Amino acid sequence: MGEEKKVMFHEMELDDRILKAISQLGWPNPTLIQETAIPLLLEGKDVLMRARTGSGKTAAFTIPVIQKILNLKNTSTHQGIKALILSPSKELCGQITSVINDLTLKCSREVRCIDISQNGDMQIQKSLLADKPDIVVATPSRALAHLKSNSMRLKEDLSVLVVDEADLVFSFGYEAEIKELLGHLPKIYQAVLASATLSDDVLSLKKIVLRNPVTLKLEEPELAPSSQLQHYHLFAEEDDKAAILYALLKLNLIRGKSIIFVRTVDRCYKLKLYLEQFKISSCVLNSELPAAIRCLSVEQFNRGRYEIIVASDEKALEKPDGGLLGDEEFGKKRRQKSKRKKDKESGVSRGIDFQHVSNVINFDFPLDVTSYVHRAGRTARGNNQGSVLSFVAIKEKPLMDAVEDHLSKGFNGQQVLQKYEFALESVEGFRYRSRDAWRAVTRVAVREARLAELRRELLACRQLQGYFEENPTDHAALKRDKALHTVRLQPQLAHVPEYLLPAALRNEDTEADVDAAAPAPKKKKQAGNFGSAKRHKYQARQSDPLKSFQLKNLKKTPAADDT
Ligand code: AMP
Repeated sequence: MGEEKKVMFHEMELDDRILKAISQLGWPNPTLIQETAIPLLLEGKDVLMRARTGSGKTAAFTIPVIQKILNLKNTSTHQGIKALILSPSKELCGQITSVINDLTLKCSREVRCIDISQNGDMQIQKSLLADKPDIVVATPSRALAHLKSNSMRLKEDLSVLVVDEADLVFSFGYEAEIKELLGHLPKIYQAVLASATLSDDVLSLKKIVLRNPVTLKLEEPELAPSSQLQHYHLFAEEDDKAAILYALLKLNLIRGKSIIFVRTVDRCYKLKLYLEQFKISSCVLNSELPAAIRCLSVEQFNRGRYEIIVASDEKALEKPDGGLLGDEEFGKKRRQKSKRKKDKESGVSRGIDFQHVSNVINFDFPLDVTSYVHRAGRTARGNNQGSVLSFVAIKEKPLMDAVEDHLSKGFNGQQVLQKYEFALESVEGFRYRSRDAWRAVTRVAVREARLAELRRELLACRQLQGYFEENPTDHAALKRDKALHTVRLQPQLAHVPEYLLPAALRNEDTEADVDAAAPAPKKKKQAGNFGSAKRHKYQARQSDPLKSFQLKNLKKTPAADDT
């Protein structure tokens, strides 16, 4: 590999206010796409960038947009909409807007942005647009509706157009709208297309939107390098997997937000109910859940309401809207002028970012290499640190060997999946508790939990509101069932008494429990690791719990340190 010099943010001639915001976001240096695209966009070039979600592409186009607006403001006091950013779904528009808000933290008065994709009164949006915000983020239909009704005019002032997830624009059936929308733009403006693939559709969009563009097809590695993403494995059979997970979580050896993958939807609930008994809360994500719940789970996870997501398949994460229709199929349906207009803008599909996932835990080993790569790709996004810990039962060993074979090719034959040594015998007490708790989650309990989820959805369903108003007894009956506890809770399980702790972690002076309810130490966003518990609860102890656990191969990542 060549020793190419990395361009840093401060070498890009960016405004100080942007640099400050970037540093506040904790981004130490640009990602590959940012490093390449930002200078080109600052030069004023049209750019077609192939970039996947997680590559940092949103900032790759928003940073130059903000810089350009600040430059324009230096020379003119005339207020106008200077940038239009189009994205195929409301959720993605929301995500882009939030990145812009973060990046304009220090210049929010100079650079104003509104997102008109969200369901809102057109009239209210009209009045917001009348203020001519500098940046408008929208789905193509929303933008076009406002252009047609004259509540937004771009002919005079627009200076940049961005189309994000350009390949989805076609599959969402926005093609005609984009073409019509171009007629409302000035003759000269800078344009950017960002797309995960360079399909024929994108290439035809490129022809109509871009002029003499630079095409960036960055060869990004399948997964982040080992300096950023560590892979561990641990041999364990069924009962022990549960006990180890419980011990790792309770002893705070797992830091930061985690996604735990299991094999089936039932196991999702089993694991959730198992953890619940120890007062470890998590939310479940699988492709059988209604779209609204899936999106809500992702949103709550991102907002930090949950630290743990238990997922049964990576497809549910790729498409939190469930991929009820695949992109292709969705596109076809749109082209046939389906009447289900609502779906068009709420299709989250690709692009939704699970933010700051520090750990991916394969409770069940994925069934093939692609699936491993997909799961692992959920962490170490942008330039963040991350770790993957896979529990491997004997029968899963061939699957792990296949993954090791595949990954090591990209690392010059070096071993990639490091052994995570965990002496379960030193936490024997955890094992007993765990066995009981695991068995307490019966099939009936799992079924009840799934039903409870559905019931919750029914109660929340807008279309049924009218029915419930007319039939209040049905509503009450459903509501009453909601309180059903599918597993008998044993409050004592929430605490880990001193005697359960391995010798190295015991505190001679106190009888204090490791309090389950106590939050894990505040981790930094990118603190992805399975680390030492000694820094917080066991701060004063001299013996290193890592040694007593024989977690020899763990590297202490600096990111885990409190700073
Ligand atoms: P995106 O590909 O735009 O969806 O970004 C993926 C994630 O990377 C987001 O959570 C960003 O906050 C994060 N990110 C973007 N740029 C950087 C950077 N230069 N350093 C660290 N994280 C970044």
